[in-house]
Amino acid sequence: MGSVHGFSCTRCDWSDVPTVDVCPRCGSKVTEARFSGKGKIDTFTVIRYPPEGFEKGAPYVVALIDLDQGPRVIARIVDGPENLQIGQPVFFLKVSNGGLEFRVKH
Ligand SMILES: [Zn+2]
Repeated sequence: MGSVHGFSCTRCDWSDVPTVDVCPRCGSKVTEARFSGKGKIDTFTVIRYPPEGFEKGAPYVVALIDLDQGPRVIARIVDGPENLQIGQPVFFLKVSNGGLEFRVKH
């Protein structure tokens, strides 16, 4: 299982993905953080008519995923859309086309 790169704020402890130069909450310095890549589906949608450059593989699933360590990320889920459920455990697969890819935990 891969890890997801993000940041953790040195002052307010806010953490998120992807990484940034300064904390969007308090403007302080951030340090690079790696998150385990384990999470759960918060919500998802099926993209049937993708934007230019993302036609391959359509229809595909884009989900909001709550990582176990806090941050919420938008990612493509390589499984489904059949049998996907809110709250289902997923894990990070890879970065592809500039976005994150997750798959369902079996
Ligand atoms: Zn902060």
